Amino acid sequence: MKLDVDVLRYLSKEDFRVLTAVEMGMRNHEIVPSDLIDRIASLKHGGTYKVLKNLLKHKLLHHDSSKYDGFRLTYLGYDFLAIKTMVNRGVFTAVGRQIGVGKESDIFEVAREDGTVMAMKLHRLGRTSFRAVKSKRDYLRHRSSYNWLYLSRLAALKEFAFMKALEEHGFPVPNAVDCNRHCVVMSLIQGYPLVQVKQLQNPETVFETILGLIVRLAEHGLIHCDFNEFNIMIDDDEKVTMIDFPQMVSVSHRNAQMYFDRDIECIFKFFGKRFNLSFEECSDDIDDSEVDTDESGRPSFSSITKTTGFLDKELAASGFTRKDQDDIQKEEPTSSCNEEGQVDQNHHTPEAGQGGDSESQNSSNEEEDNQNADENDAELMKSLAKQRRRAMA
Ligand code: ADP
Ligand code: MG
Repeated sequence: MKLDVDVLRYLSKEDFRVLTAVEMGMRNHEIVPSDLIDRIASLKHGGTYKVLKNLLKHKLLHHDSSKYDGFRLTYLGYDFLAIKTMVNRGVFTAVGRQIGVGKESDIFEVAREDGTVMAMKLHRLGRTSFRAVKSKRDYLRHRSSYNWLYLSRLAALKEFAFMKALEEHGFPVPNAVDCNRHCVVMSLIQGYPLVQVKQLQNPETVFETILGLIVRLAEHGLIHCDFNEFNIMIDDDEKVTMIDFPQMVSVSHRNAQMYFDRDIECIFKFFGKRFNLSFEECSDDIDDSEVDTDESGRPSFSSITKTTGFLDKELAASGFTRKDQDDIQKEEPTSSCNEEGQVDQNHHTPEAGQGGDSESQNSSNEEEDNQNADENDAELMKSLAKQRRRAMA
């Protein structure tokens, strides 16, 4: 997706006020009624409508008048809100070229005033599931299941919290710098995804390091769930860095064994194919670990003894709560390898239908939903009024 950040410079305070008003309205509505946006933004002399037109021109909003006059944020609109916040916080001052495109993320270079370049990941989780929702309702009763704003924000928060916690435990991950909405800023890894590497000086060493990481993660109570050649970066000195954490699960997850074996299988498959590694020579000594291996050298999940818990404390410190974890776990991780260890780029796509309830349920609950929407809008307006009063005081 093109991210024309020049537009950012031309946007006024009023523009951001209205953009934020739409974001707030989206807590309760898929399409936010124009009059509600106007009430939330409370610009003088009907200013909201002029601003809405401008935001629409720059594709930061989508207009929908199929049932009533309303707007919703586009990804670009949400990107701008996050970027603006990051710039205000002094995290970076400029956005550069795109360096990665994931199935559900876009990665850009960003730079500080002093020229330090970092990586910014904009999560697009929920893009697919959001479109798959056929709901004719406007009010998001089950909003946590299919609101893309919520899903991508949660994915970013989870990724940030895990990256920070893993870094504190000495794992080779990017340095987690900051997080806002669906956006994570981290250090830029100098290197390439393993998938692009055709030759290695020491494939056995790299292989064993990677296996050791999977085992050590499990010893910390975690499984990556998407551990493959796309999510392992490698530099010119063959130093390994792992990336991409929104789908990680705990070893107490009911499918933990399967996810663990699948991560291991991905690595075996890739190194066998790409570097013709025969596994008899390696992996009997995985990173000083006591873990047992089967006759093919694959570490056995059941023999892993946990040394630490689920890093609860560290994750909570970044604002990632148990509830967030529960919400996100409703979105079953489907990692990038299938059970045969073949790479499937359609990873972590929330299953269609999940959260999208049946038509009959939709219509029977419609009245109740509309009432809830009204009540929640009233709540929203009340809390805004309170905030404003506090700001004036
Ligand atoms: P997705 O969840 O969409 O797969 P990733 O986090 O795997 O997103 O990032 C996609 C690509 O972007 C990676 O394969 C890598 O090339 C690049 N990338 C991601 N994070 C960084 C980083 N910190 N430094 C350098 N490149 C990165
Ligand atoms: Mg990835």
